[in-house]
Amino acid sequence: MPRSTREARETDRLDDRRDLPGVGALLDSVELAPLLARAPRATVTNAVRAAIESVRSGSRPAPASAAAWSDLVEARLADITRPSLRPVINATGVVLHTNLGRAPLAAAAIRAMREIAGGFSNLEYDLETGGRGSRYTHCVQLLREITGCEDALVVNNCAAALVLAVDTFARDRDVIISRGELVEIGGSFRIPDIMRRGGARLVEVGTTNRTHLADYEQAITGETGAIIKVHRSNFAISGFTAEVPVERLAALGHDKGVPVVHDLGSGLLLHLDEYGLKGEPTASDALRAGADVVTLSGDKLLGGPQAGIMLGKADVIERLRTNPLARALRVDKLTISALGATLALYRDPAVALREIPVLAMLSAAPRALEERALAIAEKLRARGVGCDVVSSESSVGGGAFPEVVLESFAVALQGNAMILENALRGAVPPVIGRMRDERLLLDMRSVLPRDDEALAATVIGALA
Ligand SMILES: *Cc1c(COP(=O)(O)O)cnc(C)c1O
Repeated sequence: MPRSTREARETDRLDDRRDLPGVGALLDSVELAPLLARAPRATVTNAVRAAIESVRSGSRPAPASAAAWSDLVEARLADITRPSLRPVINATGVVLHTNLGRAPLAAAAIRAMREIAGGFSNLEYDLETGGRGSRYTHCVQLLREITGCEDALVVNNCAAALVLAVDTFARDRDVIISRGELVEIGGSFRIPDIMRRGGARLVEVGTTNRTHLADYEQAITGETGAIIKVHRSNFAISGFTAEVPVERLAALGHDKGVPVVHDLGSGLLLHLDEYGLKGEPTASDALRAGADVVTLSGDKLLGGPQAGIMLGKADVIERLRTNPLARALRVDKLTISALGATLALYRDPAVALREIPVLAMLSAAPRALEERALAIAEKLRARGVGCDVVSSESSVGGGAFPEVVLESFAVALQGNAMILENALRGAVPPVIGRMRDERLLLDMRSVLPRDDEALAATVIGALA
């Protein structure tokens, strides 16, 4: 007897004692035939088991008819077959939300991925010579054009870039870092842990609030592998503070023959001062300051796919590229295609601001956000969903511009915020808002304009 059938028989006996239908009986019922036509038998069997279990455990009332059982099984089948990763509407007002997948891709990046995804490509094939090529060459020319770097290497993410840098320059050696930069970037990603994982000994210099050039100078020994400068993300420190600018660290490093790594993180490629986003260095600024390697994320302010981008001098990048560890951190063809297409948009800053969703959302005028909020609110009220349009404070997220507040507008729903939040989180697509003063706000800053209609329809479907 096949195992599944024997299990089913045993379950039948148990269920008889509790007045619940058996798995086999339900599977054989005419009501379930349409489900078996739609999904593999083993999958429907799992759904049947889950349905029976939900009744046995009391989390569902016992269905009164065969048709009602079928509905319950169908609901469980939908749970089982629904993809785990699915779209949501980000109405939190945090544009780069790590929990919600960070940067949505530009249409050009999606087109490029689609073109490459389903077929073969010259990923590691040189079309000029017919010989072996390198996947690492594909985005280099664009990164040179846009940032002014000499050479570049793209790896899996910025954390991987740091691990690779530390492993290359400082395995079993010292890494010097300021105590003011021993930061946690979120999701248990801590700079000191990364340094140790990279096989380096951490040499902390200075204090939480003040670090001077002399602190670095005194820490340099024959054992020093690298100096790391971590761009402060997620928080700001003010008052009696001092840090050493990269320019001076780079000069010190060059003087002593110690490579300087600047972990920039956010990946800003264009100045966004006129949109209220001031004071962060772009990748070009960071390179000009003289660090040997600048590392940045692909899916933060750059607005591309998850990637870690390493920029620097050719000889330094060559050392990183030939480290065997690079093989374990390499990116796949989809990332390369999406990153290349995103970077190409930066050739014309006006195009980048318009076409890259993160930049378009960050640069959107509050007036435009208010108009969109008013249009959505009108639709909701027409269907009996009580709401108001309120001004709101949105933010960049992703550890970039931690202190900047971007003026925004939101649809504030009327009613118990906890109940509303729960209902919208369970909708299709889920709508994730933000709580403020016990109200649920749907902040327009982080909603893609093409999702406005879906947002209104989903809220109406869930609440009306
Ligand atoms: C976000 C961030 C990282 C990590 O980047 P990932 O691409 O998420 O790995 C590293 N350093 C800084 C300064 C950051 O802001």
